[in-house]
Amino acid sequence: MTVVIAGASLAGLTAADTLRNEGYEGSIIVVDPSTEIPADRPPLSKQVLAGEWPPEKAQHRAAARVPDLDLDLRLGVAATALDAASRSISLSDGSLISADGIVLAMGATARRLPGDQPAGVHVLRTLDDCLSLRAELEKMPARVAVIGAGFIGAEVAATCRGRGLEVTMIEAAPVPLGRVLPGDLGAFITDLHRSHGVEVILGVGVEGLEITSEVGGSEHVSGVRLSDGRVVEADVVVVGIGVVPNTAWLEGSGLRLENGVSCDATCSAAPGIVAAGDVASWPNPLYGEVMRVEQWENAVEQGEYAARRLLAEIRHEELPAPFATIPWFWSDQYDRKIQMAGRPSASDEVIIPEGSLEEHRFVALFRRGDLCTAVLGVNRPRHVMQVRMKLTESLDWQTALSVFG
Ligand SMILES: Cc1cc2nc3c(=O)[nH]c(=O)nc-3n(C[C@H](O)[C@H](O)[C@H](O)COP(=O)(O)OP(=O)(O)OC[C@H]3O[C@@H](n4cnc5c(N)ncnc54)[C@H](O)[C@@H]3O)c2cc1C
Repeated sequence: MTVVIAGASLAGLTAADTLRNEGYEGSIIVVDPSTEIPADRPPLSKQVLAGEWPPEKAQHRAAARVPDLDLDLRLGVAATALDAASRSISLSDGSLISADGIVLAMGATARRLPGDQPAGVHVLRTLDDCLSLRAELEKMPARVAVIGAGFIGAEVAATCRGRGLEVTMIEAAPVPLGRVLPGDLGAFITDLHRSHGVEVILGVGVEGLEITSEVGGSEHVSGVRLSDGRVVEADVVVVGIGVVPNTAWLEGSGLRLENGVSCDATCSAAPGIVAAGDVASWPNPLYGEVMRVEQWENAVEQGEYAARRLLAEIRHEELPAPFATIPWFWSDQYDRKIQMAGRPSASDEVIIPEGSLEEHRFVALFRRGDLCTAVLGVNRPRHVMQVRMKLTESLDWQTALSVFG
């Protein structure tokens, strides 16, 4: 019996760990183009980038378990093609494996600006990305420009300010996170950063990069050209404009690829093939919505679930109930811990039963009709956890609100 796992990061290794925990004794081949087990990613925009943690500390629990899991771990090897009908998977080392089960956990790649990227331009996804950015920050550049005010961009901006650097954050939308959060909350993110000395430019696109030629002919970024003609001078530019799911190699596989690997409600992409983590999209029955969730906790939960579901199929046992999860996310920016449970939309009504946006300490509940779709808290962990517990039982609005007496 052979299970192949594509991706040796959070979702993939959690799936491997779960297979063993569930008593699977067959072969587990795990492949990943990285030459080392990928680092746990959240500290890469926080403690490691800040220089507070050595890189080795950024390791997640499933990675630490690898020596006990009896894996055929093939690092430096990518999955290159798949025939879903026969479950044969080709690898970059030339091998072709006929698998009984496949877990697709290839995550996503940071999106880059079009064109050549001169020195000084960074994205942040891997430990290497983090260390090369960190090395530049240690040289104390005169200004860092962060393109994109999503969570990665906002965390990088906060970490750079923590290092005493001048930062400009540029966002094309009129408010940060406008696609996922109602305007007031996006305005809170703007305010938080401005109050810490970040120059925040909103509603202006990026036209291109300013480049200078250095002695010896190499090129280095010197600024960001905006669509309104302004130039933000910067020696370091961090591009945080989202990610692309790693599915290119699955073209022609027979799987449906729509915003990642399209799965059914049990995370199955085809018979004997499951997907988990940042690469997987599935209809979450709790929200009646097809979603792809780029969050740490989801990679763990879905990795566990997908492995259990795959084993049930291989063993001809009853399949587990659909993967119905309340997404959970946190972000650390300055001395603020932002935590969110649920799936808000920009059109939800926002009610703040605790604290206030002005204090930068509050709990926000998101309401859609009779449902509480999400809770977001800033430095209010107890309340957020209480609402989260309620949401796992029911999304009923009154039940969520009852936490606040
Ligand atoms: C800098 C940063 C900070 C973050 N901070 C937070 C946070 O504070 N809170 C939070 O909730 N989430 C955070 N996240 C998100 C979270 O880390 C991700 O959701 C999580 O890592 C997803 O895990 P994954 O295993 O699905 O994908 P990944 O971690 O992307 O791993 C996918 C793996 O698949 C491999 N792969 C790619 N292509 C192939 C192929 N063809 N064959 C085989 N393997 C392949 C890749 O090399 C990679 O190792 C952060 C992410 C980043 C980048």
